[in-house]
Amino acid sequence: MNFEQVKLEDLKSVGKKTAQYLNKLNIYNLADLINFYPKKYEFWDYTTNLEVTESDKTYCIKIKIISSCNNIRTGSNKNIYKLQGQDFNNNILNIVFFNSKFAAQSLILNKVYLIRGKFKKINYNIYEIVSPKTREFSDSAQNSITSIYTQNSNISSNKISKIIKTQLEIFKDTFTETLPKSVIVSNDLCSRDFCIRNIHNPTNKSDLQISRKRLVFEEFFVYYLRMESIKLYSRKKTDIVISKNFFDEFCDLLKFKLTESQVKVIFECFKDILDNNLSMNRLLQGDVGSGKTVVAAALIYAMARNNYQSVLMAPTELLAVQHYNNFCELFSGTNIEIKLLTSSVKPKYKQELIKNLELKNNYVIIGTHALLSDNINFGNLGLVVTDEQHRFGVNQRAKLANKSGSPHVLVMSATPIPRTLAMIMYGDLDISILEQVIPGRQKIDTFVINSQKRERMFNFVREIMSKNQQIYIICPNIEESENKPDLIYLEYYKSLLIKNQFDINDIEIIHGKMSNYEKDEIMQKFADNQIKILISTTVIEVGIDVPNATLIIIENAERFGLSQLHQLRGRVGRSDKKSYCVLVSDSKSKDSTQRFIAMKNSNDGFCLSEQDLKIRGPGDFFGTNQHGVPNINIPTNYTDIMTIQLAHDYARDLVNKNIINKNPEFETLKDKIHKNSDIININL
Ligand code: ADP
Ligand code: MG
Repeated sequence: MNFEQVKLEDLKSVGKKTAQYLNKLNIYNLADLINFYPKKYEFWDYTTNLEVTESDKTYCIKIKIISSCNNIRTGSNKNIYKLQGQDFNNNILNIVFFNSKFAAQSLILNKVYLIRGKFKKINYNIYEIVSPKTREFSDSAQNSITSIYTQNSNISSNKISKIIKTQLEIFKDTFTETLPKSVIVSNDLCSRDFCIRNIHNPTNKSDLQISRKRLVFEEFFVYYLRMESIKLYSRKKTDIVISKNFFDEFCDLLKFKLTESQVKVIFECFKDILDNNLSMNRLLQGDVGSGKTVVAAALIYAMARNNYQSVLMAPTELLAVQHYNNFCELFSGTNIEIKLLTSSVKPKYKQELIKNLELKNNYVIIGTHALLSDNINFGNLGLVVTDEQHRFGVNQRAKLANKSGSPHVLVMSATPIPRTLAMIMYGDLDISILEQVIPGRQKIDTFVINSQKRERMFNFVREIMSKNQQIYIICPNIEESENKPDLIYLEYYKSLLIKNQFDINDIEIIHGKMSNYEKDEIMQKFADNQIKILISTTVIEVGIDVPNATLIIIENAERFGLSQLHQLRGRVGRSDKKSYCVLVSDSKSKDSTQRFIAMKNSNDGFCLSEQDLKIRGPGDFFGTNQHGVPNINIPTNYTDIMTIQLAHDYARDLVNKNIINKNPEFETLKDKIHKNSDIININL
């Protein structure tokens, strides 16, 4: 039976009006209706004791009503309805409804209900709940699960749920399987019929979980079959020949031992560049301070020893210079020549460099977007690395990669994107993740204070200085701002420190409007520990690595987003020394409080970005990079990552082994893969 051909009006319990309302939710036929999955679920498993509740979390409590409904009229002519209930430990619950007579009066004296929502403790055994969801207690009510659908002003979630349930009753045993049997068996998935029934009308948590797994798998599996097929065709043929990885030689250059995670990622890249004649196209994700640079260095070394040039592009001059210094030191005993190319290098040096670029194969070029200028051509480019990728547009990346032949491309991103999102966003790239923290690193302790405590905090600053360690202070503004007088600015902070008996010679200011020369000089002095306190704007946000800095103070912390705060905090904790972050803010807004709590509770960028995603929504993450975003119907969350990964691995394997084309089982799926492939014009 083809559900797409079954019109809504022909369905039982759907009239003409209802059909129109459903249309507004993009539901036009039975197939659309069945594929309109709940956006979330309410679980009605309950407890009997109000004392377990914490404010801000949702609970379901079994309550007996012990008073009849009381109606209070407010000054502004609103009605408030109040009732009292009792749990089974003699705690009292005040139940309050605003303007909702029906809901209030449906709770009857002496009857038992499940009351669901957020509870607030107002006295030692008295609790309150406002506008809760309620259900009369019964065998079927307890532990049940309610599906919540996206609703609109015309049609409620409840109504949609009823319509779908009716269809599930009528269309018994007719949800035919959409995945090949081999896929189901290998990935331990439930049948489509079971899945559809339980996704809409789950009997218990475990069946729901099994069903969600199947749906998440299926949606991403189809998406990845398409992406992997595209990738297979879009990974360009390359004639770069790397015969050996020279990995052991590289390790001998290092002062530290690579982590297992670093080794794993390096070999994922080696596999790309050694094993086949297609160019690498890989995204390296890792939290701040996870040690991404050395991964790039290992590849660059392998390139150089195989007589290929490499390019490392950084988003800021400061970062380019830092990389330049590090690479010079790392490769000092080798014949590799490191060259810096930014907009502020001398014209003569630049001309010479450009001339040599076409001849010398032992060059490694480190620079900023100045590298993109048209008169720069490489003689034998093997690898392009872009650091802090989120700062570069996709086009800039492509421009660099297309400069010479088909070099391998490694994109490094320090803004951890929730894994789910990264896989969705960068479907055209392979992804490697640095999971491990570097051994010996301690948790960065994070504190939140208000500005009144600032001067007391200076004692802590002195303590850090007495250990000969260094401090960053971040201010949002360079100068005093007339329309935002409460924003702290650099000079003001400097004067504040001096007023508090700090030595002026220990303090420097740095910001983005300074000349590159000035910035480099100050950064160098800070790196050499000649300056103790660096007062800075967010120019130092990305990449800067001064391991002896162990305290970062962020003023007007409410001005920064969660990812940015985490990124800034990542400037410390870059050695085995204990490090600290102080967020200074007088803001009491819910949003900033939420962010500060998240910062205090977690040092894990992936976890924070996940929360950021919840606070800000996914729009911000995608930016303009919308292409290829899959049309995923099922809401996903962090716990789905394993399933998404499974779907990805399995799809990749099938595509690489050409099973899709060879095995007739996949005939029907092929149509789905083709569908929407106009997003990226490609013949499968
Ligand atoms: P990010 O991932 O933020 O770019 P970096 O590559 O700048 O991190 O590395 C952070 C610091 O950790 C650097 O000082 C680097 O030299 C050091 N580092 C990297 N890997 C290791 C390791 N395996 N053991 C010890 N230190 C390391
Ligand atoms: Mg970095």
